[in-house]
Amino acid sequence: YTQNLIAAIPPSDKKIRRFNSVDYIEGGSKTTHRINLKEHWLGEKLCQTISEPAIYIEGLTKVFTIKKAILARNRITHKAVNNVSFSIKCGESFGLVGESGSGKSTLARLIAGLIDIDHGILKLFGKEVSNTSFTKIGKTIRHDLEIIFQNPFSSLNPRMRIQDIIAEPIEYYKTAPNGAIRMKIVRDILEHVGLEANAIYKYPHEFSGGQRQRISIARALASRPKLLICDEPTSALDVSVQANVLNLLKDLQDELDLTMLFISHDLPVIRQMCDRIAVMSNGSICEIAKTDTLFSSPRHEYSKHLLSLMPKIEDFSDQN
Ligand code: ADP
Ligand code: MG
Repeated sequence: YTQNLIAAIPPSDKKIRRFNSVDYIEGGSKTTHRINLKEHWLGEKLCQTISEPAIYIEGLTKVFTIKKAILARNRITHKAVNNVSFSIKCGESFGLVGESGSGKSTLARLIAGLIDIDHGILKLFGKEVSNTSFTKIGKTIRHDLEIIFQNPFSSLNPRMRIQDIIAEPIEYYKTAPNGAIRMKIVRDILEHVGLEANAIYKYPHEFSGGQRQRISIARALASRPKLLICDEPTSALDVSVQANVLNLLKDLQDELDLTMLFISHDLPVIRQMCDRIAVMSNGSICEIAKTDTLFSSPRHEYSKHLLSLMPKIEDFSDQN
């Protein structure tokens, strides 16, 4: 078991196809029947390629007011996101890495429309959304975007059963014509993310951390997004469960042609998950590079510093 646990830590020196998982089963959900999504409603309309970038941002800036005052000189503000520009192609897996407090979550929330943009341009699938509130644009664009948060315990409503948590977006977007089909969709998604059928009757507190994150993923999938923002989805999980959840996200991305913005402070994880990586520090992007290029020859001083902090389990192998 100890050997398994150590093997589950993602290697920092090479890219692997799948994460090693520990032979320990959270809640007995090891063998899952996976649906062929290409022939399922979940796979519909996702496979078409769009030429516009999924996310295009230019000069995005967000300033938080820490202390209000009438006179400008007495105000205290904090630039959490400072003049950030990049674009993410459809189907790409884009990583955002940086230390805690560098503004990664703020950037994710700006893109998801959860907070207002101060300056800059944001386009989702070619449509400009920066100056219009999401409610005005209507359901169409939000329909294409979902976000998974770091802490699945606070992102799931504790008073709702799992069936209602997952059925809510289906109901809101009117994806299903009637209640029976809605329930079938809920069951299919739960099965697909590796939860047992009777999970629908339970409440979020009745699950382990890894299972709760699977529920968050199921809920995100329920609205059939094209773009998935994962904000440190496994930072609250231990390494054995992390491997399973990351494998699930990788599979889903392949099967559904999802565009993914994957945020993490964990370099080995982001290396395995992403095609391209942006390094963020103090609200600004220092460097954007292909994953292999970044790890083999980082250009920016801050990237080099981050890479030098990466723990290497190999260092201890000859000391046992
Ligand atoms: P990260 O996700 O990279 O750890 P965050 O985006 O959460 O960083 O935060 C970036 C900075 O913005 C932090 O210094 C944080 O204190 C500040 N911040 C985030 N949200 C708010 C807010 N609502 N009001 C004021 N400051 C905030
Ligand atoms: Mg964060």
